[in-house]
Amino acid sequence: MRRKVIAGNWKMYHNPAETKEFFEKFTELVKDTPNEVIICVPYIDVAAALESTAGTNIKIGTQNLNHEEAGALTGDVSCKMLQDIGIKYSIIGHSERRQYHHETDDFINLKIKAAFAHDIVPILCVGESLLEREKGIAKYKICTQIVMDFDGLTAEQAKKVVIAYEPIWAIGTGKTASAEDANEACKWIREEIRSLYGDEVADAIIIQYGGSVKPTNAKELFSMSDIDGGLVGGASLKPEDFAEIVNFERNENI
Ligand code: PEP
Repeated sequence: MRRKVIAGNWKMYHNPAETKEFFEKFTELVKDTPNEVIICVPYIDVAAALESTAGTNIKIGTQNLNHEEAGALTGDVSCKMLQDIGIKYSIIGHSERRQYHHETDDFINLKIKAAFAHDIVPILCVGESLLEREKGIAKYKICTQIVMDFDGLTAEQAKKVVIAYEPIWAIGTGKTASAEDANEACKWIREEIRSLYGDEVADAIIIQYGGSVKPTNAKELFSMSDIDGGLVGGASLKPEDFAEIVNFERNENI
């Protein structure tokens, strides 16, 4: 059975003092979970987050990286710099970066390869817009992203990628995909991986759902056959809420 991986995406929220305050509460609340817990914080919070979580079961990631080792790239942070300070995870290809920073699948593919070269596990986001879903091309969109983003990866690397299926229309909107629709999309992704890499990789790869996951819907979503956890934005900012999501198995109301 695949493990559950639950990751938070703080986006552009929380300063280092708030980061310390968050982990003072959160660490205790999730210390007994069997699930893998990752929080992807803004760059300015990385030092505080690493210090606050040293010796715990919580892993710290970033929300982006630059694929170059170093260079005249104002405002960017390289995968080498992240590796040097002990970062092991990074979100790559979030829809907000695809939309506002015009990141293409070719560019995302470069970042994934650079992440692996620096021992960083990519949390790769894919997903369709509302229009693409309404036009019946969601599967085509998602599978195209998978083919392009995985281009040139070995089976060993592919197996380690954490894929987050995030329908764009569900991110930060309060609208969640139904558990059945989310599971169906995660299955499309798994079958695409199967056709690219075979059974071993397809059956092992972690595929999360992301898009308005909350304490009240996490258990239903994460109990589906092909959903191996979640990528959580807004609800990862409060320690109590995110801990409830991480500890979703304990929710007795569902
Ligand atoms: C996200 O930022 O990846 C996300 C899924 O956000 P939210 O949970 O707020 O919809």
